[in-house]
Amino acid sequence: RVRFAPSPTGFLHLGGLRTALYNYIFARKHQGAFILRVEDTDQSRVVAGAAEGIEDMLNWAGIPPDESPREGGPVGPYQQSCRLELYKKASEALLERGAAYRCFCTPRRLELLKKEALRNRQTPRYDNRCRHLSPRQVAEKLSQGSDYVVRFQLKEGAEPFHDLVYGWSKHEVAAVEGDPVILKGDDFPTYHLASVVDDHHMGISHVLRGTEWLTSTSKHLLLYRAFGWDPPRFGHLPLLLNKDGSKLSKRQGDVFLGHFVQDGCLPEALLDIITNCGSGFAGNQMGRTLEELISEFDVGRITTHSALLDLDKLPEFNRIHLLRQVGDEGLRGQLVTVSARAVGNDPFATLSLRLSLLSMGCLALTVHPSVPQGHISSLKNLVAPEYSYLWVKPSVSREQLQSVSAEADEIGKRVIGLMEGQMGALTTEGLNEDLRGLEEQMRGTKYSSMMKLLRLALSGQQHGPSVAEMMVSLGPREVCERIRKVLS
Ligand code: GLU
Repeated sequence: RVRFAPSPTGFLHLGGLRTALYNYIFARKHQGAFILRVEDTDQSRVVAGAAEGIEDMLNWAGIPPDESPREGGPVGPYQQSCRLELYKKASEALLERGAAYRCFCTPRRLELLKKEALRNRQTPRYDNRCRHLSPRQVAEKLSQGSDYVVRFQLKEGAEPFHDLVYGWSKHEVAAVEGDPVILKGDDFPTYHLASVVDDHHMGISHVLRGTEWLTSTSKHLLLYRAFGWDPPRFGHLPLLLNKDGSKLSKRQGDVFLGHFVQDGCLPEALLDIITNCGSGFAGNQMGRTLEELISEFDVGRITTHSALLDLDKLPEFNRIHLLRQVGDEGLRGQLVTVSARAVGNDPFATLSLRLSLLSMGCLALTVHPSVPQGHISSLKNLVAPEYSYLWVKPSVSREQLQSVSAEADEIGKRVIGLMEGQMGALTTEGLNEDLRGLEEQMRGTKYSSMMKLLRLALSGQQHGPSVAEMMVSLGPREVCERIRKVLS
């Protein structure tokens, strides 16, 4: 049982997706369960709708959680703000065992401590003063109604633990940190307590999370020991960085998943590119499906090297996955969604686009696997105006063609002949040669006019992909049909 435990402070970004993905893959590999737990204990940072947005994105990416706030499950609720009673009981248990204590230090005192440390160029840390309050002093403060928080007493002697990725690790937290707050004055827990309590009560067997939590793990293990619970296994994932080694910046906006959805990116391409730059798999060839990733995955293959993500390669990943999925029901569904977004709110345009996609357009995709070639590297391209010829048959008149060249009928006839004589699959190189050959035969029409004419007949447009590319994606039968229709 593994979990992805984001704080709902904004949109899901690539780093988060990657953590979720490794957890999902690990769960599938070992017939386990993948749990989404929303860590919303820092209420000041919670953004309305963010938790729902994160779950939506996991679904979009094709890695839906088995248990989650929305799905429910046997160990819910899956949102920490709905589990406050549990954390309160846990902190009381620690208080009773003497593993935690009430701290009555005022914010002002803590502020002074911090200032003094900074003045002495030291890292601020709590001086553990309230550890030493006598039971009488505590009772007195409580009877006066003084505010307090609960702190965990960090013991010296953190035990080494074996991280699934980093190997043996140990952090003497007590030597460098003051006792951490585990329960705040408003009865909300802090991350450390809530995480440990939930991982225990949710039966989490393996914690796979970002490497930034590696140094907290010793603290978590001290908490497990204080509770008398068996800890899960831990594995920390190396950083995900830009290809130049810089931090993936959230401010640029293009690391949020919503950006890729808008851009017509295929979820499979995104999963492929973020695993391709990391480790954990047999190799890192492009074009792997989720199923292939799962079968290749081995947690022991994850190395500590940072994963360098080159987003410039994303169009190539998209192209490969589009090609793999041509004719799939799933791809059609996505096209309908993306196209609806592309035409905006105009209900008529949406309806006609949907109809054409569902009737003839998607048929073209099914029949002609060469569609996602050339310049098409995102679903958005497929519904861009210059590619509308894929979905919408042109309405062009014979007169229009004849105004481009007096030899329109003859050219049409010869192109149909060319198509009928094609033996194997069409290729742009082959077609370009054939069209040049045709130019030789048609002494009366310039090559450029011939291309203009054919473009018009096939797409009804003046601009767009090359004529050869259009012919390849439409296929010989559709090319003949379109030409015949205008010239009949
Ligand atoms: N809520 C933490 C985060 O946002 C989870 C860390 C963990 O997985 O333990 O990253």
